[in-house]
Amino acid sequence: MQTKLADEFKGSDIGEEADAILRSCVHCGFCSATCPTYQELGDELDSPRGRIYLIKQMLEGNTVTEKTQRHLDRCLTCLACETTCPSGVRYGRLVEIGREYVDKKVGRSLPDMITRKVLRTILPYPQRLKPLVKLSQLVKPLLPATLKAKVPVQQRATVPTSATHQRKMVLLAGCAQSVIKPGTNSAAIKILERLDITLTTPTAAGCCGAVSYHLSEKEEGLAFMRRNIDAWWPLIDPASDAPHEAVLVTASGCGAMVKAYGDALKNDPAYADKAALVSALAKDPCEVVINEELSSLKLINTARQKIAFQTPCTLQHAQQLNGEVEAILTQLGFELTPVPDGHLCCGSAGTYSILQAEMSQTLLDNKLSALMSGQPDIIATANIGCHIHLESRAGIPVKHWLEVIAEAM
Ligand code: SF4
Ligand code: SF4
Repeated sequence: MQTKLADEFKGSDIGEEADAILRSCVHCGFCSATCPTYQELGDELDSPRGRIYLIKQMLEGNTVTEKTQRHLDRCLTCLACETTCPSGVRYGRLVEIGREYVDKKVGRSLPDMITRKVLRTILPYPQRLKPLVKLSQLVKPLLPATLKAKVPVQQRATVPTSATHQRKMVLLAGCAQSVIKPGTNSAAIKILERLDITLTTPTAAGCCGAVSYHLSEKEEGLAFMRRNIDAWWPLIDPASDAPHEAVLVTASGCGAMVKAYGDALKNDPAYADKAALVSALAKDPCEVVINEELSSLKLINTARQKIAFQTPCTLQHAQQLNGEVEAILTQLGFELTPVPDGHLCCGSAGTYSILQAEMSQTLLDNKLSALMSGQPDIIATANIGCHIHLESRAGIPVKHWLEVIAEAM
């Protein structure tokens, strides 16, 4: 695609980066076939190609309006288009640049600003989120049906004891997941313990930074990243005795973010090298478990329940790990049901389910129909956002796949 950058972008890092991405797009439109918002709305401007065109117009100095912002806001950043694109266009990075610019130019309405601020002020902080989740669970019976569905199912989990093994990995405690679904990390500790791997969870680490970063509050997101790197560094420093071999992230959305630390901090001289190492060490649990001797997990009753596995976009498109969890579950003897259109987003997409509720619910309907078509007993997933989104209307239990395995141990 030919481009002619406006003067304000010429020669700037962002301008050059966006220009290179725009030029790699040959405008073929293959990506539209797998874009959930284009499938639902049928508007070219709600397709990846249309959004790329809108960003091109912005960077060429054309007027930016709320209409541009609306079409970019409707994008789920699911990255199905990146998986489909034969030219390797880095759409996700381009839309990030486009959103930051459009927000600066057009601003936000007061209610929108408040909602975004509230999300950024609460979600990344377990100590703030916890009392709100507890309160919502307490008053759940009194709430109208639509709000009731949004209250996450209460989950209690004890942290299993872990012996000290020669093999060690860092575990990201995370933010919302540690409050709402503590069973996920407990299951990870239990499973890796049986694989003779100790997980260490430095308490100084927390939110991966994705909430702020994806709401165009880049500096805030970078501060979370630096804090995590500082917390993990003594454990992973190659110069230390026996550094931990990986940074394990059990929520695929957070995993995708941690794997992008190196890129996000590449221009920070104090953190660039450390961030690159953290990204290289970041692993989804499926990348670890699939390489281990699975028989040592000693599972029982794996054929008891039929499972529909929902592959989060952050696992299949961002981390490109499609099929790995299914391979593990199948090898372990679990029965998986077929899930049509597995490449499509469930509509959770981080804060999207709150900021774009209507589209999010439409995509949830589609996803639940697909998941339920094989009549499973439970739905399994790999990401906290998808977990609570699916659970809100699934009508059957939804679990992290690690919990499914841990329960069979
Ligand atoms: S992003 Fe890729 S698939 Fe989509 S129009 Fe551009 S080159 Fe084609
Ligand atoms: S990231 Fe997803 S919603 Fe956004 S343009 Fe690409 S396929 Fe469509």
